[in-house]
Amino acid sequence: MTKQILDVVIIGGGPAGLNAALMLGRARKQVKVIDEGRPRNAVTRETHGFLTRDGISPGEFRRIAREEISSYPSVSFASDTAVSIAGTDGHFHISTAGGATFECKKVLFAIGMKDRPLNIPGLAEVYGTSAFVCPYCDGWELRDEPLVVINKGAELMHFAPVLAGWTNRFTICTNGPDELTDAQREELQRHQVPLFDSPIRQIESSGGIVQRVVLEDGTAIPCRGIFFKPDLVIGSDLPRQIGCSITETGMVATDEFGKTSVPGVYSAGDAASRQHQAIAAASMGGLVAAAMNNELNGEAWRQNG
Ligand SMILES: Cc1cc2nc3c(=O)[nH]c(=O)nc-3n(C[C@H](O)[C@H](O)[C@H](O)COP(=O)(O)OP(=O)(O)OC[C@H]3O[C@@H](n4cnc5c(N)ncnc54)[C@H](O)[C@@H]3O)c2cc1C
Repeated sequence: MTKQILDVVIIGGGPAGLNAALMLGRARKQVKVIDEGRPRNAVTRETHGFLTRDGISPGEFRRIAREEISSYPSVSFASDTAVSIAGTDGHFHISTAGGATFECKKVLFAIGMKDRPLNIPGLAEVYGTSAFVCPYCDGWELRDEPLVVINKGAELMHFAPVLAGWTNRFTICTNGPDELTDAQREELQRHQVPLFDSPIRQIESSGGIVQRVVLEDGTAIPCRGIFFKPDLVIGSDLPRQIGCSITETGMVATDEFGKTSVPGVYSAGDAASRQHQAIAAASMGGLVAAAMNNELNGEAWRQNG
């Protein structure tokens, strides 16, 4: 029996991959979504800023999405990890950790980003409950609260004025050399923002809620929340395996329609964009799905005419 060649395999079932699956299902394409179910925001209780879904949990978002996609029978799901990819445009082979293989004409990497281990003692215990990375996602809940910002250098000087829109009660811990100029330190002083460069010894918390940030020099800073700069890596090395160009910041390089440097291979969502928001990932997934579908329909048209 000859094996079915799917139109598209989507690797990753977060907002980007799911919205792509919805679009491709509606476009009558045979699609498999392979998802290992380890999104970066799994640590959070609520996703904010997604119109009609503000405050939804990441798990409930995925459940509703899958329910909606189930109206389109040409889309199916595999709960598995894709571990290898080979082939060229029109015929790719993808194998999974669970021993399955899938063949397809086009591939979409919607693999997201992952955090490198959080190497500040106590940070993992509060990540997603009172330590966050983005004030647009979680700033409202911490408005006017005393916060600690863990960041340094130019990024800190970008972040501080942004965060001041939510609270002006924040203290900066650079956790080592601050990488600031004298002028930048003076700017923070003018805004009465305390700055500490002693390394962080421990983040103390209770039930996931931060209580104090304790520094090596003995300073203890009481606070109700933390914003920190995460260290991110791409969600999977499969784009590298198939030869996709990777940007300096470690994302898959794409054009505006999600096309990578490898013909037939696309990418969408956090892995291919600096806009790390669920609605932006979903939007890009939809846009890229349309581009893939246009290419598939054009190829079929030419073959048949
Ligand atoms: C703490 C935190 C809070 C956040 N809060 C918000 C918020 O309130 N609002 C908001 O808009 N955004 C928020 N975000 C950002 C949001 O989570 C991301 O922008 C969004 O999840 C990106 O969607 P995605 O589909 O690109 O990737 P993801 O949602 O990360 O999904 C990628 C999926 O691909 C899977 N995958 C990767 N490699 C493989 C493989 N080889 N095989 C199979 N599956 C694979 C992963 O397991 C994962 O399930 C938050 C992020 C963090 C870290």
